[in-house]
Amino acid sequence: MVVRLHNTMTRSIDEFEPIDRGKVGLYTCGPTVYQYAHIGNLRTYVFEDVLKRVLEEAGFEVRHVMNVTDVGHLVSDADTGDDKMEKSAAKQGKTIREIADFYWEAFRKDMRLLNVREPDVWCKATDHIAEQIELIRRLEERGFTYRLDDGLYFDTLKLKDYGKLARLDRDGLLAGARIEMVEGKKSPTDFALWKFSPKDKQRLMEWESPWGTGFPGWHLECSAMSLRYLGERFDIHCGGVDHIAIHHTNEIAQVEAAYGHDWVRWWMHGEFLVLPAKGEEGETTKMAKSGENFVTISSVIDRGIDPLAYRLFCLNAHYRAPLTFTWESLGGCANALGRLRNRVGELRKKGAGSPSEKHRSDFLEACADDLNMPRALAVFWGVLREEALSVADRYATLLAMDRVLGLGVESMEEEKASLDAEAEDLVRRRDEARKRRDFAEADRLRDELLARGYVLEDTPGGTRARRKEREIDCG
Ligand SMILES: [Zn+2]
Repeated sequence: MVVRLHNTMTRSIDEFEPIDRGKVGLYTCGPTVYQYAHIGNLRTYVFEDVLKRVLEEAGFEVRHVMNVTDVGHLVSDADTGDDKMEKSAAKQGKTIREIADFYWEAFRKDMRLLNVREPDVWCKATDHIAEQIELIRRLEERGFTYRLDDGLYFDTLKLKDYGKLARLDRDGLLAGARIEMVEGKKSPTDFALWKFSPKDKQRLMEWESPWGTGFPGWHLECSAMSLRYLGERFDIHCGGVDHIAIHHTNEIAQVEAAYGHDWVRWWMHGEFLVLPAKGEEGETTKMAKSGENFVTISSVIDRGIDPLAYRLFCLNAHYRAPLTFTWESLGGCANALGRLRNRVGELRKKGAGSPSEKHRSDFLEACADDLNMPRALAVFWGVLREEALSVADRYATLLAMDRVLGLGVESMEEEKASLDAEAEDLVRRRDEARKRRDFAEADRLRDELLARGYVLEDTPGGTRARRKEREIDCG
């Protein structure tokens, strides 16, 4: 199976070939663990999970490395402002370790709820300070660093193809930019490799280094840790599109300057989740880390929506297209997922069949076409209605496709199983009331369930409840 993937470096879709036959080294930039992830952040991780599953389906053995940023990520990209971790710890009256562990665990829980599989290697920035210092030492040896009062900087003017990933117009930047810039920087694109601790204030996290006490710049950890776990050259590096111009550009600069050769073969970037434009002339906005636009997996669950509906929502768009979030369209996906559950629940009763090769290959062809998941999903939905296949074969085919989609087909039961705990309790109490012929109480409980958006069906086995379907459909 030939997999074709878009490469941000070449701006083209090319046939994917790894460095070592059959094996893929994959690095994905992980979370900065100072706050919950919002669903816009999580869209990127769903995209990367699908990429990994498609590569595995194509027969590659994937080694996946993801970092956890627990130091050095400053509030501003201009090497100024507070450290996000230190700021969050101070605000919550906790230690940095407590903050990092808490939000990392929360992130892993979000991953589980979205069926996003964990990487083979998790690596924390604070566990790899020595590797980061070693990388700076190499850069210093090769003449790519200079020192200012507040830290050691990378001299981007010394690297002739600096900015190639983003196709930065460096001359334009130099002429135009007097943006927020650390005093003494030779070029606005120069960035901190090592920041010194302030003289007047004790930092919560700091380390000794050949240049003075301080902490590593944020871009350094991904370069240093991917070198350690994936080697001097590897296949695919992913992240959100917001990383192209600065973070990934600087990761490339550090490694290629230190080692003097090309580094990553494939750069892949997931587009933003955006919020609808306000008013006729408004523009869509990116989901932000604060304010009313901050939607997390917990807020999805609080509305009674299965988190996997959000995974389905993401699969409905191509990863390189911006995706507009509304609660209505997420609700539509929840309904589609509910219907899928009911259908799969019926199909699986007919026992084991075998997957249809024709449908499977149509499906994989769409996946291998730069992860065209909307097209792959259309094949998937088509199988549900495919009269030419036996019921058992339909189930087997869906199951095979779900190795990529990750919608949890294997554990799907008819809808009852997905009621939330409170609704389940109401259903149980209603059944008890009916048994003791307390119909007034049974009716009251029925009304309460209706008010919560459930429809009821009385069956010989007791009450069956399912979520009322909303009108919008995305299945
Ligand atoms: Zn990174």
